[in-house]
Amino acid sequence: MNKKMLQNLKQKLEKEKETLEKELESFAKRDKKLPGDWDTKYPKFNGEAGGSALERAADEVEEYVTRLPIEYTLEIKLKDTNLALEKIKKGKYGVCEKCKKAISIKRLKILPEARLCRKCKE
Ligand SMILES: [Zn+2]
Repeated sequence: MNKKMLQNLKQKLEKEKETLEKELESFAKRDKKLPGDWDTKYPKFNGEAGGSALERAADEVEEYVTRLPIEYTLEIKLKDTNLALEKIKKGKYGVCEKCKKAISIKRLKILPEARLCRKCKE
């Protein structure tokens, strides 16, 4: 892989990282005990009584349940992105973690955070 291509993919990854962190911050908070881990904010109930308060609480719980898998996906993607940036720093980027062969540029262009080559992924 030439330097220009690597620089290009690095920029892509850094942008990706920023976007993912912003998305996660919009509905989750960082886990202080586990760096790189995020928790979806659980809705707060303010102790209001009556039907409308209950209805609102139900809506918020529903939203929470919908967000959990999204948070999980974003978190994994963010972890892979950070890992890829780390590999660039160490000069080990673009190598399949399983078979140790080079991952194709074509694949990295589409998925710069890829950890496995297409063969191993399948
Ligand atoms: Zn492989």
